[in-house]
Amino acid sequence: MIERGKVYLVGAGPGDPDLLTVKAQKLLVLADLVLHDDLVPAAILSLADARAEVVNVGKRCGAKGATQSEINERMVTAARAGLSVIRLKGGDPAIFGRLAEEIDALEAANIPWEIVPGITAGLAAASALGASLTDRRKSARVVIITNHRAEGSAAPTQRDWQALANEDATLVIYMPGKDFEKLREQLLAAGLPPEIPAAVVSRAASAEQSVQCATLGGLNSLPRVAAPSILLVGWSLDAAVRRHLAANTASLLAEAELILSSR
Ligand code: SAH
Repeated sequence: MIERGKVYLVGAGPGDPDLLTVKAQKLLVLADLVLHDDLVPAAILSLADARAEVVNVGKRCGAKGATQSEINERMVTAARAGLSVIRLKGGDPAIFGRLAEEIDALEAANIPWEIVPGITAGLAAASALGASLTDRRKSARVVIITNHRAEGSAAPTQRDWQALANEDATLVIYMPGKDFEKLREQLLAAGLPPEIPAAVVSRAASAEQSVQCATLGGLNSLPRVAAPSILLVGWSLDAAVRRHLAANTASLLAEAELILSSR
């Protein structure tokens, strides 16, 4: 079912191989060349055939990886040589994945291409928390946004937050950074109340997944979590955040009782 001389722009999902689409899995087994990002775990890469070439073209945390034009060139050259190529990205390729630039390059070179969607990290984060992003009693929309300053794209300004951060929206913030102080101040200054629920989900859909809950006002007191992480903010999360905090308190109490009874 895989075509030669073509590039498949494939979402690998948030990390758990079970969250890969069946189509992505089928293609991975058949591809000649897999060009993947850092976010794609080994358990997914191991699905590629033993004779396939699997190359990490990631450029995480400013580390020296392939440049975007090198990646584009590599895809084009391989497809022209008649190989079936998978460009494998964490989550969904259409969310903060520089997909449009790669499509432009493939179009310019007249190479056939196809997008295979994946489960984006923001949705995996909502699942980890156990929340609906669109509880219709509380939220009318979802805002998918990145807080990262990258070359060629600016981080959201106070004006952006002013326009986006409304109480009837659920914010799904990619690349929130490790220090939430500035973001917290910006969101409060944009008019969100300090009581609005917030959750940070680190390494969603992996064995190291962690969920930290707070209110927007208390966001700066959360412990720092490992990257990659997603910050969720909104009233839709209210019940899930309360459940999470109650479960944490219960397990802390149980731990304290155990310590006391062992004395
Ligand atoms: N295309 C990807 C996003 C790439 S941008 C997707 O659709 O998910 C990279 C950012 O995604 C990270 O900085 C982090 O904010 C988020 N991210 C990716 N995988 C994640 C995971 N397993 N858990 C939490 N956040 C994740």
